[in-house]
Amino acid sequence: MNRGVLLVISGFAGTGKGTLVSALLEKYDNYALSVSATTRGPRPGEVDGVHYFFKTREQFQELIRTDGLLEYAEYVGNYYGTPRGYVEEQMAKGRDVILEIEMQGALKIKEKYPDTLLLFVVPPSADVLKERLMGRGTEPAEVIDMRLKRAVEETAYIRQYDYLVVNDDLQTCMEEMHAIIQSEHFRVSRNDAFVETLAEDLKKFDGSGCK
Ligand code: 5GP
Repeated sequence: MNRGVLLVISGFAGTGKGTLVSALLEKYDNYALSVSATTRGPRPGEVDGVHYFFKTREQFQELIRTDGLLEYAEYVGNYYGTPRGYVEEQMAKGRDVILEIEMQGALKIKEKYPDTLLLFVVPPSADVLKERLMGRGTEPAEVIDMRLKRAVEETAYIRQYDYLVVNDDLQTCMEEMHAIIQSEHFRVSRNDAFVETLAEDLKKFDGSGCK
């Protein structure tokens, strides 16, 4: 059995990454979502072990010290990191593991594990992004401005990603992501063991042809 693909999905705030990931998990059973550890406190409605593993700074430092994280980053004063155990276990079972993490973490993962697939989700246009952020109706104008400024900064890093998907229609975008991820399983470098077995098996015909 093929090992699962490790994939990172990033995108500006307001592009619908979270909804896309939920749609993928709901429709296909080959995906597993990694739950991150963080030192930030839970927001209303967030459940420990479901949205995040909420940790004290000491507990988080212990995870770093014992090499329990695949990567971690500090973001707006808090630590966020990907617990190693679950990711490795699910990949060994052949499931494609999704990390929904910010860019610093994504690039660290790619450096450490070059066969990680990095996907970046963008809105169809800057105006649509602004409309979506305003449409949430939950954030003041200054916060929306801050998110738009951050989006401008983040565009500088998009070229380090492997694939770009435009979230215009959610369903179409989700199917495009699924197709990209599935085609990754056919990469020759991911099928070394099969190629070797086949090469070995073919040796039985050496010199004898069809006789
Ligand atoms: P929030 O506090 O809004 O849930 O998350 C803040 C940022 O941290 C988001 O961009 C989110 O994708 C990112 N993040 C969540 N988990 C991880 C993680 O395990 N590692 C890294 N590097 N970033 C994460």
